[in-house]
Amino acid sequence: MLKKFPPKYISPESLSGYQLKGLQWTVSHAYRNSPFYRGRLEEAKVTPADIRSMDDLRRLPFTTASDLSEGYPFPLLSVDMKDVVRIHSSSGTTGKRKILGYTQKDIGDWATMFARCYEMAGVTREDRVQICVGYGLWTAGTGFQAGAEKIGAMSIPAGPGNLDIQCAFLLDMKTTVLGCTASMGLLLAEEVHRRGIRGLLNLKKVILGAERTSEAMIATIKDLLGVKEVYDIPGLTELYGPGTGLSCRHESGIHYWADYYILEVLDPDTLKPVAPGEIGEMVYTTLGKEATPLIRYRSRDLTRLVEGDCLCGCILPRHDKILGRSDDMITFRGVNVYPGQIDETLSKIDGVGSEFQAIIERREDGRDYMTLKIERAAHMGESADEAVASVVSGEVKRNLMVSCAVRIVPYGTLPRSERKTKRVLDKRVF
Ligand code: ZN
Repeated sequence: MLKKFPPKYISPESLSGYQLKGLQWTVSHAYRNSPFYRGRLEEAKVTPADIRSMDDLRRLPFTTASDLSEGYPFPLLSVDMKDVVRIHSSSGTTGKRKILGYTQKDIGDWATMFARCYEMAGVTREDRVQICVGYGLWTAGTGFQAGAEKIGAMSIPAGPGNLDIQCAFLLDMKTTVLGCTASMGLLLAEEVHRRGIRGLLNLKKVILGAERTSEAMIATIKDLLGVKEVYDIPGLTELYGPGTGLSCRHESGIHYWADYYILEVLDPDTLKPVAPGEIGEMVYTTLGKEATPLIRYRSRDLTRLVEGDCLCGCILPRHDKILGRSDDMITFRGVNVYPGQIDETLSKIDGVGSEFQAIIERREDGRDYMTLKIERAAHMGESADEAVASVVSGEVKRNLMVSCAVRIVPYGTLPRSERKTKRVLDKRVF
C-alpha cells in the first residue's frame, strides 16, 4: 500500500536486524560525538562494541527530560554546531524550555516520515492541505507542511486560530484535508456548523496532531464537518516532532515508524518491559537521528503495544493511543493504576458521565481502599444507579485488576477545569 514511503525493512521478521544496525550506529555516534552520552555510557560501563544484539538495548542508560533541560541550550548535541541547520523548542509545560537541534538529514528524515503519514492516509497530489496548527518554534506547522509538500499536495499554511480566515480558506481554496489539533478541529467544526456551510465544503479527511484526543471529540468533528476519515498523529518534539506514526484506518491502533526509532514500553517503576498488551511508559531510541539522538528517552507517556498483524496489511508495528502520563500513576494493593485506564473503562459503559474521581485511602485495618465517584450521565435517572455501579465495579475489576466501591453522583457535581483536572485523590500517608 505504501509505495513512495514504504518501511525500510521487508518483513516483520527482518525488523530487529534492521533496528540493530541503527542502534549500533546511534550508540557509536553518540559515544564519539557527545560528551554527555560518552559520560553516561562510561558510567554504565557500555561501549559501542558491546551492542551485539537487540537484547543489549537493556544495558543502555536512560535519558530523561531533565537531561534535556540541564543541557540547555544544546542538550545531547552529537554533531558539530555548523551542521545544525534548525532548532525547535518544546512548549515547556513543565519546567525549562527544551531546545532540539536538527541537521539537514534530520529535517529530511522527518519530512519523509510525515510524508508516509499522508500516504498512509490516502493523501495525494490532488489534495489541498489546510494546516491550522502552530508555526515558529513549534514543530507542528513545519512538520505538517514539509510532509504535504513532499507528497506533492498543496499546503495552505493558515496557522492556528482566526476562524474567519479558516472558513474563507476552506471554501475558496477548496481544502480537502485539514491538519489541526483536536481542540482546533472541534472549534472549526462548530463554526462551520454555526455558519451552515458544511454542504459547501470539499473536505474529505482530518489529520489530528500533537494533542490527546477523545472519541467524543472525533465523533463531533466527523459529524459537523461531514468527513468520514479522521486520523491521529502522535508527536513529540524530542522525537523530531509530529509525524512519527499514524492511526490505522481500521481503528486498530497507531502504526509507528519502527524503521526510524525503537519503542520500548516499560513499567515506570521497575523500568522492565511490561507483559504483552499491558500499559507502560513509552521509551524511545532513535536509529538515525544525528543532531540530538535519543537513547532510551523516557517520554512519561503511557500506552500499550498492540500485538499481531494488522488488517490493513501494513507491517509497521502498532501502539495504542496515549493513555496518560506515568507521573499520574498510583500503586494500589501492588497494582499500577493510571487515571487514563479508568477513563478508558468508563467511556465504554452506558449511563455514566465523563467525569470521575478516584479516592484512595488507608483504613484502620491497614489496607488500602478505593472509592470511585462517578457522575450519572445527563439523561439518566437515579433508579439505575445500583445497576450502573455494579457494571462499573465489574469492568474496573476486569480491566484494572483492582476492586473498588462505586458511588454514583448527580451530573455536573464533580469538579471540572479547562486544563488538567485532578481525578485521583491519594489520601494515604506513607
Ligand atoms: Zn493497520
